[in-house]
Amino acid sequence: MKKVELLSPAGDLERLKIACLYGADAIYIGGREYSLRANATNFSLEEIKEGCSFAHELGKKVYLTLNIVFHNEDINGVYDYIKSVVECGIDAFIVSDLFLVKYIKDNFQVEVHLSTQDSVTNLESVKYLEKERVDRVVLAREVARDDIKKIIAETNMDIEVFIHGAMCTFVSGRCVLSNYFTNRDANRGGCAQICRFCFDLDDSKNPFSMAVKDLNMANYIKDMIEIGITSFKIEGRMRSPFYLATVLSSYRRIIDAVYENNLTDDLLKKEIKILSRVSNRENSTHFYDHKANLSDQYYSGRQEASNQDYLGIITAKKDDYYQLKQRNYFKIGDKIEIITPNMDIIEVIVDNIYNDKMEAIEVANQADSTLYIKFNKDIPMFSMLRKSYLN
Ligand code: SF4
Repeated sequence: MKKVELLSPAGDLERLKIACLYGADAIYIGGREYSLRANATNFSLEEIKEGCSFAHELGKKVYLTLNIVFHNEDINGVYDYIKSVVECGIDAFIVSDLFLVKYIKDNFQVEVHLSTQDSVTNLESVKYLEKERVDRVVLAREVARDDIKKIIAETNMDIEVFIHGAMCTFVSGRCVLSNYFTNRDANRGGCAQICRFCFDLDDSKNPFSMAVKDLNMANYIKDMIEIGITSFKIEGRMRSPFYLATVLSSYRRIIDAVYENNLTDDLLKKEIKILSRVSNRENSTHFYDHKANLSDQYYSGRQEASNQDYLGIITAKKDDYYQLKQRNYFKIGDKIEIITPNMDIIEVIVDNIYNDKMEAIEVANQADSTLYIKFNKDIPMFSMLRKSYLN
């Protein structure tokens, strides 16, 4: 059986490289044009080329989103753009408009994936798309398990499903809240996440929001593999490198444990604890195993609080000292964890910190400073330090 793909978002080249190192099999990115999430940094053609080379060296794939709602004015230049991106080495385009399916399949040997923006929710649509030469469908987040299973059983289509991250309150972006409140078009990359805002209702003192809880499918990974899903997608091209490294490595460990036949309740509990800590919003399995209801919403106006868990990333080694690009406060005596690209979690007590002049210091309290630390074991490059999640 072909192993399921773990698909990561990446808003820029740094995130793409982190995703490749931390367990993603494929990465989806946006170009500077024609992609939703217009305010993610996004990739120039040179960066797409560099990203593809980096990923291909490691045996990973890169997909480019071209999933805005196209108006006539948007079509100018898109054919030339696609040709340039193909020359960069892209493995697939994620499109929402059917004219692009025909154009790409007629002209290039590149896969075409139908974006979740098209909200495909049923077998007949997938059969139709199969005839149109679509290689993969990213199902709407609103499809239930038994419907996914039926679609897989009755077609040859590769099926991609979201497993983690934020949900859209309205069916996959079919929403004009952003247009109305901020003049930013959600369907051309401008969503301002208005559904998360707090609104004052006339006759209530309590703030009201329309936001839904996040998606977290960790408990169903084994089942989702067994029903034959091709690709597990993580949401969030705006997410930080630390978030990506943490979420990807948790799902990597769960997926690998399923294939190695050693997924235990303890392992699952540990990974769910990590996943709930890295994003402190509550989560749900939403439509997969039940009809999403009031308990899947945040009507209270609760907002996500930022945390200071990410302490820094190892960027080099000089003699016995690891160079650290520091992010948040930590000090001598703190118990911390080091997460590594080979999926280990190493617990250590900080017993030395040096500044960039190699002077011993007690406290690391300047974000973005360069520090040095000695550890009594080998730590791979690009490992990340975080507050302790497991104790
Ligand atoms: S405002 Fe909310 S519901 Fe509308 S597109 Fe953005 S995330 Fe989706």
